[in-house]
Amino acid sequence: MMIDTFQHKGLRKKLVETIRSKGIRDERILDAIGCIPRHLFMDSSFIGFSYKDQAFPIGGGQTISQPYTVAFQTELLEVRSRDRVLEIGTGSGYQTAVLLELGASVYTIERQRTLFLKAQEILSELGYKPHFFFGDGYQGKQSYGPFDRILVTAGVNDVPESLMQQLKGGGILVVPVGGEPGQQMVRIVRKGEDEFERTEHGSFVFVPLLKGTRD
Ligand code: SAH
Repeated sequence: MMIDTFQHKGLRKKLVETIRSKGIRDERILDAIGCIPRHLFMDSSFIGFSYKDQAFPIGGGQTISQPYTVAFQTELLEVRSRDRVLEIGTGSGYQTAVLLELGASVYTIERQRTLFLKAQEILSELGYKPHFFFGDGYQGKQSYGPFDRILVTAGVNDVPESLMQQLKGGGILVVPVGGEPGQQMVRIVRKGEDEFERTEHGSFVFVPLLKGTRD
């Protein structure tokens, strides 16, 4: 049911204050989290926990990211209005909605068909219009690039070279790097044709980026 009540709005306000207290400063991101009905992106079994600052299962062994993590990755990405943003791992579509609220033009890829279809349905119902792609995002989406920003929402062992090459000059890639049990949040800025500046921003736990597709 597509219902957003005053109670949901109240819970979102609290969530925003929680995330603010954890160090997120960008008001545009906090506003986005304050307005997006996260409960509509959740699996029905966990709907009562929608405004907890935690990750939850969304089916297919995947998770909707913790709101703080969504905010943190988005802050590192420094998204500007009208930026062309490539997102690898649509999942629930919640992070996609945050990017769209910031005025970005979003190209999002998901490898699991059930999640892909579900995210497409909810984002469309809410009036969000990213460009959806079903497939393995490991190689990025060269024909739609280059991109101002690239966001990977699953963990990789090594930063895919193809993604680095799809960044515009001055472009930013945010990607969790490392295997079990967790990753370092890595931010890569393209300084020139072959010049990339890499910085690390703390430990997080993501599901792994997987090869190929599944139904
Ligand atoms: N931002 C999403 C995170 C979902 S978890 C959210 O908050 O809901 C990561 C997602 O990446 C999963 O849905 C998983 O299926 C997807 N994924 C994993 N490997 C992928 C790949 N190679 N290409 C595209 N999507 C991938």
